[in-house]
Amino acid sequence: MNQPEIVGRFAPTPSGRMHLGNVFCALLAWLSAKSQGGRVILRIEDLDTERAPRAFASLLEEDFRWLGLVWDEGGSEGGPHGPYYQSERTELYLQAYEKLEEMGLLYPCFCSRSELHAAEAPHMSDGRFIYTGRCRNLTDGERLEKSRLRKPAARIRVPDRVLSFEDLHYGHQEEYLPDECGDFVIRRADGVFAYQLAAALDDGLMGVTEVVRGSDLLSSSPRQIWLQQTLGLPSPRYGHIPLLTAPDGRRLSKRDGDLDLGALRQRFSGPEPILGLLGHLAGLLDRPEPVKAEELIPLFDWNKIPADDLVMTEEMLRTLNG
Ligand code: GLU
Repeated sequence: MNQPEIVGRFAPTPSGRMHLGNVFCALLAWLSAKSQGGRVILRIEDLDTERAPRAFASLLEEDFRWLGLVWDEGGSEGGPHGPYYQSERTELYLQAYEKLEEMGLLYPCFCSRSELHAAEAPHMSDGRFIYTGRCRNLTDGERLEKSRLRKPAARIRVPDRVLSFEDLHYGHQEEYLPDECGDFVIRRADGVFAYQLAAALDDGLMGVTEVVRGSDLLSSSPRQIWLQQTLGLPSPRYGHIPLLTAPDGRRLSKRDGDLDLGALRQRFSGPEPILGLLGHLAGLLDRPEPVKAEELIPLFDWNKIPADDLVMTEEMLRTLNG
């Protein structure tokens, strides 16, 4: 019997040059799909076009090609599930938004950033803030009054239920939506659709069967699965991976300019030393010896990937600093 095809994805936000943490994530997403004979889609998450200009998206593609992380569908090459730039998918997000609105799930939220900070309760285990539902039950009169002063965001009412799923790496996960997730934003006050809606919808519509991404997005999965269920879309399987941190425990980010692909490509003539280091951090290689991306495919195994965040040591940083 034919197994259903595995479809993975890269979903980068082109708000700057990729850094090592982004490459780590893309590498593992690619290896997981390729080790099962699957395909990979490239979707450009440029919802916020000012922060994510097209020029950065082109550089991203060039960087993926340089790394040897060849995708099968999407990006500027297009394909059957296009467009692959979220900035060109607004009509689809609007349709989903209207559907949720017809279901009576959305309500306007007028809270300012400072009101949110003052009122929201941090979630015990990870410090995320949970919306208290302040604007959930405003009367029509109150809504009218408040709308004279500020444009509202649209929030979705989460149901009184537990959402559970099996993470490919971290195992069984469950979340009681009212207390551990809370009503979340579907459309921002400036009209831009929220990442949660766009990602959930696109993964469903593009036929993605497997999402591999950083553990910082683990808490997004219950929201995205619930949105897919609500919109009648299939859900992919999710596999979260540890984050790369600097020696002081700080998460690597776009601010670590010396570890971005622009700087690394000037230092190394090919991607092999970088892929070797990442393969070693992922537990796939005993030593950080230079490799090509495809040489890691047969070595990929979720069981080898560590659970805790991965610290880039000074020695590793020195190697990368050339
Ligand atoms: N666009 C997100 C990022 O670059 C990733 C979203 C996802 O993988 O769902 O951080």
